[in-house]
Amino acid sequence: MGELLEPIVTNPAFIFARQVLVLFFIVFDVALIFWTYRDAARRGAMAWLWSLAALLFPIAGWLIYLVVRPPEYADDVRERDLEIRAKEVALARDYETCPACYKPVERDFLICPNCMKKLKKPCIECGKALKLSWAVCPYCRTKQQ
Ligand SMILES: [Zn+2]
Ligand SMILES: [Zn+2]
Repeated sequence: MGELLEPIVTNPAFIFARQVLVLFFIVFDVALIFWTYRDAARRGAMAWLWSLAALLFPIAGWLIYLVVRPPEYADDVRERDLEIRAKEVALARDYETCPACYKPVERDFLICPNCMKKLKKPCIECGKALKLSWAVCPYCRTKQQ
C-alpha cells in the first residue's frame, strides 16, 4: 500500500496541494478566531476568552461558541431596555397615585374614586382638571379664584 502511494506522496503537485490545503486551513481558522472575537464583543460575551478558545481548539472552540453564545446583540438588548423604559415613562405620565390612599388614579380625576380625596379642581372656564395649587388654567389661560 505504501509503495503504491509513494509516487503520489512524493509528487511535487501533491506536496504543493497539501501545502495549499494547510495554508487554507490556517487562514480559515484565523478568520474564525477574528469572527468569534467580533461576534462575542457585539453580543457582550467574553470576547477574549472565546477567541482564545477558538485559537486553542481550532473549529471545536468556534462550534462551542456558536452553541453557547448569547442569542442577541448587546445593542439590541440596550435598545429594548430603552423602549421598555420609555413605555414605563409613558404609563407613569397617564397614571398618578392618590396621595391619600396610593391607589392609581387617572390624571383628570377631580376626586379619588377610592377614598374621595379631592385631587384636582375643574377650571372655572373650560372645566379641565387643574392641580389644586394652580392659579391659572394652562389650557385656556383663565385665572382661577
Ligand atoms: Zn384615594
Ligand atoms: Zn381652563
